Amino acid sequence: MTAQSLDGSQVAEQILAEVKSGVEQLRRETGVTPTLATLLVGDDPASQVYIKRKIKTCAGIGIVSRHERLPADTSAAQALACIHRFNRDPDVHGILLQLPLPAGLDADALTAAIDPAKDVDGFHPINMGCLALGRPRLVPCTPAGIIELLVRSGVALRGRRAVVAGRSNIVGKPVGLLLLQRDATVTYCHSKTADLPGVCRQADILIAAIGRPGMITADYVAPGAVVVDVGINAIGDAAELRRIVGDSESHWQQFQKKGSALAGDVEWASVREKASAVTPVPGGVGPLTIAMLMKNTLQACLARVKGGL
Ligand code: NDP
Repeated sequence: MTAQSLDGSQVAEQILAEVKSGVEQLRRETGVTPTLATLLVGDDPASQVYIKRKIKTCAGIGIVSRHERLPADTSAAQALACIHRFNRDPDVHGILLQLPLPAGLDADALTAAIDPAKDVDGFHPINMGCLALGRPRLVPCTPAGIIELLVRSGVALRGRRAVVAGRSNIVGKPVGLLLLQRDATVTYCHSKTADLPGVCRQADILIAAIGRPGMITADYVAPGAVVVDVGINAIGDAAELRRIVGDSESHWQQFQKKGSALAGDVEWASVREKASAVTPVPGGVGPLTIAMLMKNTLQACLARVKGGL
């Protein structure tokens, strides 16, 4: 069996089209245009690329973006002042603090300073708490995108066994809570889990969010399982890339061009022969993260204009 590839790019396009029409309708009815404020501190090259992508996506669907860039030696007080300014600004509906932050700045403290009603990343303790209580408001984007991808691809969740490998606050924990809310039976795994392959093999739906290239081999996967690969790893070693992606043409083209290629936490070449469906890397979960950020920005704006979240 060769697994179906779950196309995240296509689902992301659908969501962006829906958000675009929601933005147009809101503007027509109320005159208000959703506005996303982004804050980038420091010079991290990957963060600069991510921010540019977010701003470009905003422009493509009619969301206004405001960008503030602060130098790497910014003090906590200066970063807080910027967040407070965005909090107070009635024309700003969503605030995104690009992570990671330079050493010396406390990401948790700055995240907690964002107005929860504008917290479009969904990381504020109040939004995480609401999610844990089963009353989600603004939900972290990658986990929300994983659920959209599964649901829109026709993967049933109710009553099914989901195993989440990884328990980070930005991916593992919230995706497990969202699966629970959809009536899946959820098991969390982490670096101290005994017999990780055995636990993962119990999954109808396996979410791999561990940050270890190609660690989830076919030995971790039950025949017919649905496998979601959240990992994003740049692989510069040809033998390692061959193990993970086999002879995938697009990966080797990228490798030849750049000297490295992106691959996930799943050993795609072996897992696709055992799973019923698997997300590719790139083109699986990745595109959904930005799409859900746009959706959250519209949701935050709607809540501001029409009340309630
Ligand atoms: P973290 O490093 O924050 O968390 C990794 C988790 O994996 C931890 O819970 C850790 O366990 C667990 N883990 C690590 N090694 C092992 C192991 N050998 N066996 C079992 N569990 C292990 O990573 P993130 O959650 O932030 O990200 C995970 C991956 O997803 C990364 O590759 C990241 O780049 C990618 N990512 C992709 C996004 C997208 O848009 N597609 C967005 C965000 C992340 P413990 O808690 O015990 O340490």
